[in-house]
Amino acid sequence: MDNEANVLKLHERLQARGVSRRDFMKLCGAVAVAAGLSELAAPRIEQAFADVIGRTEGGLYPVIWMEGASCTGCTESLAQSVTPDVASVVLELLSLNYSEPLSAGAGWHVEQAKEETVNAGNFILVYEGAVLREWDGQALRIANETGAEQLAHVAAKANAVVAFGSCAVNGGWIAAHPAPSKPMGVMQFLAEKGIKTPVVNIPGCPGNPEWLTAVLVDVLLVSGLEGLKLDAQNKPLGMFDQSVHANCERRGHFEAGEFVFEFGSKEEALGYCLYPLGCRGPQTKANCGVVLWNDRRSWCVKAGAPCIGCCEANPMNPNDNWVEANTPFYKRHRDLRIGDWVVQPTAIALGLTGLLAGALVIHGFGMKISGRMDGGADFEKIRKWDEKHPDKAIGDYSAAYQPASEEPESKEGGKA
Ligand code: SF4
Ligand code: SF4
Repeated sequence: MDNEANVLKLHERLQARGVSRRDFMKLCGAVAVAAGLSELAAPRIEQAFADVIGRTEGGLYPVIWMEGASCTGCTESLAQSVTPDVASVVLELLSLNYSEPLSAGAGWHVEQAKEETVNAGNFILVYEGAVLREWDGQALRIANETGAEQLAHVAAKANAVVAFGSCAVNGGWIAAHPAPSKPMGVMQFLAEKGIKTPVVNIPGCPGNPEWLTAVLVDVLLVSGLEGLKLDAQNKPLGMFDQSVHANCERRGHFEAGEFVFEFGSKEEALGYCLYPLGCRGPQTKANCGVVLWNDRRSWCVKAGAPCIGCCEANPMNPNDNWVEANTPFYKRHRDLRIGDWVVQPTAIALGLTGLLAGALVIHGFGMKISGRMDGGADFEKIRKWDEKHPDKAIGDYSAAYQPASEEPESKEGGKA
C-alpha cells in the first residue's frame, strides 16, 4: 500500500513539473537500458524513484560535485538533458550541496556548505575533470587550496566517488602530450594517496547524463554500492562492455562492404559505414548507439560523424586515453600496441622521415668536410675493385689513370 501511495505521490510531483507518466516511463526504460538491464525493468526503476521521491521530504542523498581541470562539458551534458528532465528528476533524488558551475551561491558560503556535507558524511562525490598533480598541484587552486588537496580531503570521507567524463577517468585530452601539469584520473590519484573509497568510472567526452543517472539510481536505489556490477576498470557493466560497432545501425553496411570514403559523397548520403573515415567504433566500448543522446534522438554515428573513441580511458594510465590513441581524427589508422606502449603508424612514418632528413643533412656536412661535394675525394675517384680489374670496370676512369706528372697541354701546344 505504501508503495502505491509513493507512486501516486511521485506522479503528482512529476505532473507539477509538466512531466507526463509516459515520458517518465521512457526515462525509467532508458535508465534501465543505460544500466544494462532490460527495458522491462522500467517499473522497478519507477518504484525505486517513487520510494525515495514519493516518500522523502528532506533527507535526500547528499552529493558534492567537484571540478578538476575540465571544460565543464560534463556538467552541461547533465544540465542540458531535455524532456523528461533527467537532471530535475535526479535532483529530486539528490541534494546537490556543492557544484561550482551550478550552485547559486559563491565564495565562502558554498565552501562552508561543502565542508558541512563532508563532516556529516554519508554522501557521494561526483568528480569532473582531470587531477593536476605537477608543481605540487598549484596549476589548479580552489578556495585557497590545491584542487588535488581538496579532492583527497573530500574523497576520503565519501561513500563513493563517481569519476564522470573521460577527463576524470584518466585525464582525457588534458593528459594528452605534452601535458606539463601531469594530469591523471581520480582512481589513480586516490590509489597513489592510499585512499580506499570506491570509485565508479563513467568515461565519455562528455559523459552521457543517462549513464550518470543510471549509476546514481542503481547505487542509491536498486543494487546499492555493493551490488553495482563493474568491470576490471571500475566501469559499469552493461554500459561499457560492448563495442560501439556491436550496436551500430550502420553495421549492415560494414558487413556488406559498403563504405564512405569521402565526406559529401553519394555513399555518405546513403548512410554507409564510416570506417574508412576513421570510425573508432570497433575499438571503443560503450553503448552510445543504444542509449543515444539529445532526448534519445541521435548519436555521433547516426549524425554522420565517425566515432572518435572518447570512451576509451584506462583509469590507471593517462597515456592510454582516447586522444593519445585516436588522433588524428577522421583518418583511418591502426595502432601498434606493445604492452602499454601505443604508437600510430603515422607517428612512426613521421619519425622515420625526420630521421632520414637528419641523416641526409649529416651526410651533406660529411661530404662538404671531406671534400667529396667538390668532385669527390681522391679515394673515391676510382673504386678499389675497378682499379684492380680495369678491364672489367664499369665506369670511365680514363681521367683517373692519367699519371699525376702528366699535365694538360696549353693552348699554345706547350706545357702549361
Ligand atoms: S570529459 Fe570532455 S566534456 Fe567532460 S570535462 Fe572533460 S573535456 Fe569537458
Ligand atoms: S560506422 Fe563505425 S561503428 Fe558503425 S559499423 Fe561502421 S565502423 Fe562500425
